[in-house]
Amino acid sequence: MTYRTRFAPSPTGYLHLGHAYAALTAHDATRANGGDFSLRIEDIDRTRCRPEYEQAIYDDLTWLGIRWDREPLRQSGHLAALEAVLETLKLRGLVYPCYKTRKELAQAAQGAPQEGDPLASEDNEPTSLNPAWRLSLDAAREQLGAEWNDLGFMELGAGPKGETGWQVARPEINGEVVLGRKDIGVAYHLAVVIDDGLLGMTHIHRGHDLFEATHTQVLLQKLLGLPTPVYCHHALLLDAEGRRLAKRKGSKALRDYRAEGMSADEVRALIAAAAKA
Ligand code: GLU
Repeated sequence: MTYRTRFAPSPTGYLHLGHAYAALTAHDATRANGGDFSLRIEDIDRTRCRPEYEQAIYDDLTWLGIRWDREPLRQSGHLAALEAVLETLKLRGLVYPCYKTRKELAQAAQGAPQEGDPLASEDNEPTSLNPAWRLSLDAAREQLGAEWNDLGFMELGAGPKGETGWQVARPEINGEVVLGRKDIGVAYHLAVVIDDGLLGMTHIHRGHDLFEATHTQVLLQKLLGLPTPVYCHHALLLDAEGRRLAKRKGSKALRDYRAEGMSADEVRALIAAAAKA
């Protein structure tokens, strides 16, 4: 079996050392196993993606010495195929429309509604023709029957609490996730599962911030008849203050190290040292 893996960045900012670590981990493991490495551009949320960030992904990865074995898969390039899968889930009764806004749901999750609060009712009345679509865990459980009890994944890395080895899937920790968004259509969990299946992924290397997401993604794989890859979650690199690196917090971009004259080997060494710390 060919060892197939990928790096799947979203072009919503410049890559930082944490992204480089995730990309190198997947790439180096693939090369060590004589496998096949894909680059996937996760650009379904067109409101947050920018072409210059996408170009910077190609430039930064190439500079680091990362090579991909096929044309990068851009999620925005096959939205109709992604939507078609969402339609099948609607037909199978596995998703239901949700008319509440994100803000309303967040407020509702924060505690008891106040008097006069428009959320005081538990209703989900149609307010537009364009709802979000949520995964129904009851419908999924019913349709999978006994297979529900076998849901899980092999973790060869470790989750945030050191979880390793066989993990029984607990999709309920993420609740009834949105699979179709009002604004952009197919949402993260569904797009990732469809595209990992399309690319024939055998091993998913990624940061352990996505460990919990895996519990939902293995359920979606089963519902769509796709094989579940092996997962290798890794710890996140932290900055000098011990906080996780993040684009929105302005963590130093990979391209800034390059602009300062650092070589790719030096950046690799920096990442290796930070990963050990
Ligand atoms: N696009 C996601 C991110 O940038 C990664 C998706 C995944 O690895 O499954 O965090």
